[in-house]
Amino acid sequence: MAKWNLIIDVAKCEGCYNCFLACKDEHVDNDFLPYSAAQPKHGSHWINILTRERGQFPTVDVANLPVPCMHCDNAPCIKKAGNDAIYKTGDGIVIIDPLKAGGQKEIVNSCPYGAISWNEEKNVAQKCTLCAHLLADGWKEPRCVQACPTGAMRFVKVEDTRVKQMIAEENLEVLHPEYKTGPRVYYKNLYRYLKCFIGGDVAFKKDGAVDCAEGATVALFKNSQKISEVITDNYGDYKFDNLEENSGRYTLEIAFKDYEGKTIEVDLAAGKSVGTILFE
Ligand code: SF4
Ligand code: SF4
Repeated sequence: MAKWNLIIDVAKCEGCYNCFLACKDEHVDNDFLPYSAAQPKHGSHWINILTRERGQFPTVDVANLPVPCMHCDNAPCIKKAGNDAIYKTGDGIVIIDPLKAGGQKEIVNSCPYGAISWNEEKNVAQKCTLCAHLLADGWKEPRCVQACPTGAMRFVKVEDTRVKQMIAEENLEVLHPEYKTGPRVYYKNLYRYLKCFIGGDVAFKKDGAVDCAEGATVALFKNSQKISEVITDNYGDYKFDNLEENSGRYTLEIAFKDYEGKTIEVDLAAGKSVGTILFE
């Protein structure tokens, strides 16, 4: 049977919070029984946007990671809830029944992703429903996906065999696979948030003036093995991304025109800007 899956491309997320606001617009003050009770205006977010800065000046970037409920196939919250208050629909959505879950505050801490919040006024645990009430009305996507201006979120209803193909084709990953909860939210380009880069720029001096070294070759080595090689762009910039944090020492070999080549050692911490490599 086809099931819903949410695919989030971290490289496309600009951190605009449109998804967050669309969720608020849909759910604050609005009961959608039997799927959800109204979300409070404050103190609750059914999608969280985490932000991480990487590198050092002047080579920096920012990655944003939208984190909703993962609608896990092996959900700890379902196991924790008494009275069958949390259940999975036939098409893959995990729902907290707002009536049955009343008073069960212990549900909040059962989610390793921190996706459940407590509604004090309604005395109930709450989380993202993937706008199940709209899907029941024939919508093809929840409000967050509809509101995303960059196409960072996709919502697809497909068989699990197709999901496996998509994982392989698009290098999709789940967040915290070590939790073993079987998320139905998949991330593309997750390295943009979780991994590190080594980057910088190359310049050269000619007739007393400094210019960007476009077309320089920069090779990255680890334990004497070449990992990757890139060509600098028209600003002389280069970047090696998707490197493990605190993964130790790397070597850069830089060649530009007929200048004598340079070798630089880099100790990688949480993203490393090498600064300007100048050929004179
Ligand atoms: S992410 Fe948390 S709340 Fe959502 S289904 Fe998984 S365990 Fe339950
Ligand atoms: S609406 Fe799209 S781009 Fe904006 S924060 Fe949400 S996922 Fe990111």
